[in-house]
Order: sequence, then structure tokens, then C-alpha cells
Amino acid sequence: MKFSYLYKKIILVMLLVLIPLLLPGPKILDQKLVAESASDTSVVILNYHKVDDMKISLSVAPVDFEKQMAYLKEQGYTTITADQLLDNLENGTELPEKPILITFDDGYEDNYKNAYPVLKKYGFKATIFVITDFLDRYPNYITWAQAQELQQNGISIESHTVQHKSLTELNDEEVRSELINSKKAIDEHLGKDTRYIAYPTGTYNLHIAQMVKDAGYRAAFTVKYGNVDKASNIYALERVPIFHTENTFKSFYERLHYIPIFEHLGWIKS
Ligand SMILES: [Zn+2]
Repeated sequence: MKFSYLYKKIILVMLLVLIPLLLPGPKILDQKLVAESASDTSVVILNYHKVDDMKISLSVAPVDFEKQMAYLKEQGYTTITADQLLDNLENGTELPEKPILITFDDGYEDNYKNAYPVLKKYGFKATIFVITDFLDRYPNYITWAQAQELQQNGISIESHTVQHKSLTELNDEEVRSELINSKKAIDEHLGKDTRYIAYPTGTYNLHIAQMVKDAGYRAAFTVKYGNVDKASNIYALERVPIFHTENTFKSFYERLHYIPIFEHLGWIKS
């Protein structure tokens, strides 16, 4: 009797685990903007903001940041650029083993002071999305000179618009100006062709995504939680935010490893 009760319980638990696996996978937002690819890529894009000791959620402490980068190095992760990711999504170009894209939003000066030396130590690439009107204007943001140095040392500087306004609250002309003028500022200061943008506050819609494409960007990054794979909209790429928490390393570890499982169960990315 006791055995059969246990047996039933096991079957029930197995069903609860298996049923979500049989449900349809993540929905594609907009067929037109999705990269056609046969790759089975699933890439984590880490999203940081500040790296300092402010003890607010957006501030990962330098000691925690070092620990996280050391972990990635130990575990054999290879940092990639946005170009490498897009080449893979669009053309199926092969990525290195355990690829990871490290991004920072807003371009705080602490990225230069506290994150850059650690990235350099481990030979890691990263991408910083800057608010172009803030450089050489506000003291807690990187300067164009620092941006240039970062750019020469494996840190790509990309757009986070001109003024960091939520794009969904602007009219088309204002959106276009934010997209085009931020790209122009980075292109001119750093002598490059800026191809990537992160939406300020993460807000966007498909109309804005189309304008981003028309402004000459190759892809755009959101704060939508998840890994990037072939179902991702390349003008609305998912990222994994890394915050300061009560146990920052534990949160980092869980976010790094468990998202593919959550996605598979259909818990996120819908
Ligand atoms: Zn931002």
C-alpha cells in the first residue's frame, strides 16, 4: 500500500516536470526582424550598470565584480563582441566555446576605474553603452578620452542614445534624433561605425525597433530577461541583469546557469 502511494506520487511529480516541456517554445516577436539562422546558439549577455561600493542594486561591488570575472575565467568562458554574436545569429559563424557577452549601460566613470582594470587583467572584451551628451559633461560618467582608451583595449563603445529618455515617450522625430545623433557622436569621436544600441530604461516597441534598423544599427539590446538564441528578435535582444543583492555571487551564479532551464519550461521569454 505504502509503496503504491509513493509510486503515484513519483508519477505525479514526473508529470508536473514533463508537461511544461511539451508546451510550445518562446514566441517570435516579429518574423521580419528575426535573424534566419540554423544555429542552436544560446548566449548569455550580462548586463551591468555601476561597479562600485554604493550598495544599491545597480552597483555591483568591485570585489564582487572581480569574483564574477574570475569565475568566468576559471570556467572557461570566452567573452565575445556584439559583432561576433550577430555574425553567428545572422550567418551562422561559429562562436568560441562557452561564449558570453559582457555589457554595461550608461557609461559610468566607475566602469573605467573599477571594471576596466579587472577586464584587462583577464583579457576580457566588453561593451559599454554610453549616453553621448553625458561624456565630458558630468563627472560621474566616462570622458571621450577614456572612451577612446577603452575602445583601443577591447571595450566597444556603443549607443545608449543622446539623453537617456525613454524612447516610447518621444515622437518619431525625437526618437530619430536620439538614434542618429548618438551614433554620429560616437562615430566622430572614436572614428568607428557604431552598430549597436541599448534602449534607455529598456523601453521599446516594434515601431521603434524598425526606426533603429533604419538609422543604421545592426541590433539593439533590451533589459528583457533571458538568453539570446535563434528565436530572439535582433532589435530586442535579451540580457541577464546582474545586481548587487544580499548574496551577489549566488544571484550571479543562478542567473548565469539557470536561465536556459527557465526558458525551456516557458517561464520567461514569452
Ligand atoms: Zn540606462
